Amino acid sequence: MNITRPFGDTLALIGNTPIVRLAGPSAAAGCDIYGKCEFANPGSSVKDRAALWMIRDAENRGDLKPGGTVIEGTAGNTGIGIALVANALGYKTIIVMPDNQSKEKMDTLRALGAELVLVPPTKYSDPGHFQHVSRRMAEETPGAVWAGQFDNVANRKAHIEGTSQEIWEQLEGRIDGFTCAAGTGGTIAGVGMGLKEKDPEIRIALTDPHGAALYNYYAKGVLEAEGSSVAEGIGQGRITANLEGAPIDTQYRISDEEGLVWVERLLREEGLCLGLSSGINVAGAVALGKELVAEGRPNPRVATILCDTGFRYLSTLYNPEWLAAKGLPSFDWLQQGAAA
Ligand code: PMP
Repeated sequence: MNITRPFGDTLALIGNTPIVRLAGPSAAAGCDIYGKCEFANPGSSVKDRAALWMIRDAENRGDLKPGGTVIEGTAGNTGIGIALVANALGYKTIIVMPDNQSKEKMDTLRALGAELVLVPPTKYSDPGHFQHVSRRMAEETPGAVWAGQFDNVANRKAHIEGTSQEIWEQLEGRIDGFTCAAGTGGTIAGVGMGLKEKDPEIRIALTDPHGAALYNYYAKGVLEAEGSSVAEGIGQGRITANLEGAPIDTQYRISDEEGLVWVERLLREEGLCLGLSSGINVAGAVALGKELVAEGRPNPRVATILCDTGFRYLSTLYNPEWLAAKGLPSFDWLQQGAAA
């Protein structure tokens, strides 16, 4: 029996997440597809790792002192991670978030005791963008540090030192490809760098949603976005410091509809309730698996990230009215529930 002994403190619960073979995606790709269960972190997302690394980094630099405040601009999950870590270490948290993110994330942040500042979504060049608002607040608040996840490379370090090492060990060094989408880019860059150091033959693929500019950047060198996506936490329009030097070998563009197919199938067939970025990642992993099979790699193994829990999106992805308003297909059983 594989028993985990008690951890010494709650922060030790971050990372060391399980990895699971996904039956449906593996059958679709014709090879083994593995999902790294980041929803198993205490804040139910991959961003707990970046939160812990950035806060430890600010402490080590001497910028964050006892009783201090951590301020961040975030689509939500990083804020949840920061609030948990800050609570455990005795810091205050202020989170600036676009007001179009899920209600569950806002309620969770408030429940964790974070001060929540909602701003209208706007483009990065606008001084009212959530990242700029949060940076200015940190400059003006005594004893505060700005986490700055997009350009703070302590974020990707969490994945170089943590996630990639775990994936390598869990798959016993037998891995041919890795893919995921980018928000800050910390996960794809950090896991990519960590795995390439183990074996440069591991293919690293970016899976980009519509409305993001990175697919075209890696395909033809221009930051150019097409279409749009309702996926929260992913979709980047610039090369963040975390993305600089990311070892991306190839790229896929995945629509919300394709991602939703996997969100539904993973829930119905395998009992995993996930957010849309996870569905988009799994669609990318299936594409990468098929490509490696077509090239004749024997029994390739591909890993991706299951970024956060679907319970964070009950009012959106799992709500037929919300899906209809966005022009997206609903799951059969949700529609039956709505009719009853
Ligand atoms: N999925 C979700 C749900 C997220 O919140 C994030 C973080 N913004 C990501 C994926 C992308 O992770 P990263 O910031 O490391 O690129």
